[in-house]
Amino acid sequence: MNATQVIDALREFNLGTVMENEPLSRHTSFRIGGPATVYVQPSCEADLIQLLNWVYGNQIPYFILGQGTNLLVSDHGLDAVVISTSRALRDVRVEGLRMTAGTGVLLTKLAHKAHQASLKGLEFAVSIPGTLGGALVMNAGAHGSEMVQVVDHIKIWEPGTGLRILNAAEAGFAYRQSRFMEHHWIAIEASMILKSGNSEEILSTMQHFMNYRKNTQPVGHANAGSVFKNPQPEFAGRLIDGIGAKGWRVGDAIISPVHANFIVNGGRARACDVLALMRRIRCRVFQRYLILLQPELRWIGPGEGGGEGTWENLWYGEGAGLKEPCE
Ligand SMILES: Cc1cc2nc3c(=O)[nH]c(=O)nc-3n(C[C@H](O)[C@H](O)[C@H](O)COP(=O)(O)OP(=O)(O)OC[C@H]3O[C@@H](n4cnc5c(N)ncnc54)[C@H](O)[C@@H]3O)c2cc1C
Repeated sequence: MNATQVIDALREFNLGTVMENEPLSRHTSFRIGGPATVYVQPSCEADLIQLLNWVYGNQIPYFILGQGTNLLVSDHGLDAVVISTSRALRDVRVEGLRMTAGTGVLLTKLAHKAHQASLKGLEFAVSIPGTLGGALVMNAGAHGSEMVQVVDHIKIWEPGTGLRILNAAEAGFAYRQSRFMEHHWIAIEASMILKSGNSEEILSTMQHFMNYRKNTQPVGHANAGSVFKNPQPEFAGRLIDGIGAKGWRVGDAIISPVHANFIVNGGRARACDVLALMRRIRCRVFQRYLILLQPELRWIGPGEGGGEGTWENLWYGEGAGLKEPCE
């Protein structure tokens, strides 16, 4: 099926907004990324599930997009049906200590809902941008807490199976990773168990976290959060600062002078500019500390030469096989 046939079929199904050649730079916090062949925003859960069954059944490549706050999208874009969850999955319910939410809901909104219900456990999430879905996939965390500590179970859509319930242990949460990507699971709804707390204390903790972020991160500049994972017990930002990289730039991609593990888009940065900076950082950190930084960002779309966009290909060149980080 070609792109026109896919678009015609989706419009006929009437499963929500359908756009052709939609620039993904409009849907990522980095403001970077070429076009998606098809971009769809289903308007409810039933439509989303119908759409997933249809693309899967017809072997059409698809990609689930949250708020695009952890993504570096190729300048070539993505030849796939990009499916946004933000309109379809936005229900939130609080019953006792249990909060159940659609995975298109913003994490910050969930933190505020928890505060309103005097529930503690989600304060850390107040300043993490992005949706609940993205936070599950990435096991997002901050200030010493992460999603794994609150998640009880998740309703997922599994390719070939359909809807089923996954318990937290099955999700394989670890530092900024889970089993969602390897199994191509789509998170539909998650149920979290929180603790009873004092409303004023919860608010004060959230305000403290928000202020901390304002003072330590490049607020107001397009970025995608931490570029590299912390090579625990070390911090990527400290190592990058140690090689004197703050302020380095390639094109309009600039290593933030505020936080060395953030790259900001100074206006017209392209994915290839960010990638060139990341390569340079990785090489210099390795030369100085013998530590090989791993990306926290997810690369989406083909590599620079149009081949598979895996980090190995991106670091070393397509088909080059593993090499030293500075070759
Ligand atoms: C300024 C800034 C600060 C940040 N600070 C932090 C921080 O403190 N801690 C932290 O952990 N992260 C942080 N991040 C990174 C980012 O916000 C988180 O990783 C967030 O959880 C990603 O959510 P998203 O909706 O934007 O996901 P996206 O970026 O849209 O997607 C991320 C991945 O999740 C997948 N995905 C999204 N929704 C679903 C779903 N429903 N089902 C299956 N797969 C799905 C996507 O396909 C993709 O693979 C920061 C980012 C920015 C821009």
